Amino acid sequence: MKEQMAVLPEYDRLFIPGPVGVRPEVLEAQVGPLMGHRTPEMEALMQRIQPGLRAIFRTQRPVYIAPSSGTGMMEAGVRNGARRRVLSLVNGAFSERFAKIAAANGLEVDRLEVEWGENHTPQMVAEAIKSQEYDTVTVVHSETSTGVLNPVREIAGVVHAAGDVVLLVDTVSSMAGAPVECDAWGLDYVLTGSQKALAVPPGLGLAVAQPGLLERAAAKKDRGYYFDLLSFEKNIEKNQPPNTPAMTLLYALAVQAERIAAEGIEARWRHHATMAARTYAWVDEMQAAGVPVSVLAPEGYRSPTVSCIVLPEGRTGPEVCAAVRERAGYVIAPGYGKTKERMIRIGHMGDHTMDGLDGLLDVLAEVLAQ
Ligand code: PLP
Repeated sequence: MKEQMAVLPEYDRLFIPGPVGVRPEVLEAQVGPLMGHRTPEMEALMQRIQPGLRAIFRTQRPVYIAPSSGTGMMEAGVRNGARRRVLSLVNGAFSERFAKIAAANGLEVDRLEVEWGENHTPQMVAEAIKSQEYDTVTVVHSETSTGVLNPVREIAGVVHAAGDVVLLVDTVSSMAGAPVECDAWGLDYVLTGSQKALAVPPGLGLAVAQPGLLERAAAKKDRGYYFDLLSFEKNIEKNQPPNTPAMTLLYALAVQAERIAAEGIEARWRHHATMAARTYAWVDEMQAAGVPVSVLAPEGYRSPTVSCIVLPEGRTGPEVCAAVRERAGYVIAPGYGKTKERMIRIGHMGDHTMDGLDGLLDVLAEVLAQ
């Protein structure tokens, strides 16, 4: 085990579900020269980033980049897209956050709530939409607190069948790790953060808005200033940021977006699916060996980027995480919020390797056998 750890790159040890370890060449790119942000050099950098990002988001639209974490872009979607009444699909902590953001912005919000660890179905959403005059639905694709992947493509279908309703999609822990087709699935607004499967340091919020959502924004007088998507759109047409950008992070993003585009987004999706499958196989192996662990999310609705694993009686999330770190330097997360004690979460996302994941799972097996 020690020998294996010795050859693993440093970025292959941080297995929390974000932020994840970042490749040295991406980290090092951050020391690029500072410059004025209304200069040809900045325009060149902005222009350089777009093709890779559009390939990752599967869109012809520009990808907006804000100096904020993912939550900022959640608020941006709500401020620009929602008119009055929002249906929030809640199945964990981050989907609950989306509902809270909508309420904090003065909107009427109804929650379509299922248990933590469960997914929504298109049928549930179709039923709920019928009952009220909603203009907006919020959904989290990969609920990082539970490891559940919601069927966003099908949900988009029923939302749009309901008429003039937009879907705001949080892909903070799925973008670049799970298939997301911004254009082909007709997703009105899709947001993510830099620090998860994109494997860029934290600090950038990214989003794509379809023209229909921008039309709504244009009709809204109270869409705010800093996260005004029309301002992002107007500036990006000139390859400019709306305000002073997080320049050093943009250098890192440029390198990583090109790297991922060269790797191929579909190959990256496959790699994440393989890491997730390895994790489920490990759970089966543990069960066969008499250690009663289980994957919280139901089969068919599991996120390929994060697994939430229910621990055997008598073991706790914080204690298992501490033991794994102590034994071999791997970092994983306990459950989130109310599930902190009963579970652990493994973020198999970003640039993690199969060797890294295998090494972690070996150590975890040793810890759980104690
Ligand atoms: N949405 C999801 C699904 C997340 O996992 C997170 C963070 O873990 C967020 C939103 C919030 O993102 P940030 O911490 O970048 O603001």
